[in-house]
Amino acid sequence: MLYYITMEHKYPFENEIRNLGLKVTGPRLKILSIFEESKSRHLSAEDVYQALKTNSSDVGMATIYRALANFEKAGILVKSTFEDGKAVFEINEGKHHDHLICIECGEVVCFVDEEIERRQKKIASKRGFTLKNHSLVLYGSCQQCESKLGT
Ligand SMILES: [Zn+2]
Ligand SMILES: [Zn+2]
Ligand SMILES: [Zn+2]
Repeated sequence: MLYYITMEHKYPFENEIRNLGLKVTGPRLKILSIFEESKSRHLSAEDVYQALKTNSSDVGMATIYRALANFEKAGILVKSTFEDGKAVFEINEGKHHDHLICIECGEVVCFVDEEIERRQKKIASKRGFTLKNHSLVLYGSCQQCESKLGT
């Protein structure tokens, strides 16, 4: 079965931040609310910067990088780094998934395929490995870009 991940709940961000022993500051809350409100689930530091700017909040890149790193360490966000060095963050919903990425426009799609998951475990165990973690990224061009490329 193949399924796509959708956002299921809103994070109680203030409590989350407090539970981590971090101070609840304006910029931190703003950064997390960008993730909550954004149409795209995966955001780079630059995307966050642009979104904040659009909301007329002036938060510097250094603050954004630091906050994203803290949130990742704390398990609120998950970071994925792709081949071109692009790093995106998304809210950690505790569910493993893999990614499909468009090399033209950068669109990122989450998916889980139980058969692939099973096969990977099998491959690892055949070679005496206990699988702890993996990331699978498929690179291609999305439907929109593909049709643009075709014309
Ligand atoms: Zn996987
Ligand atoms: Zn595309
Ligand atoms: Zn994802």
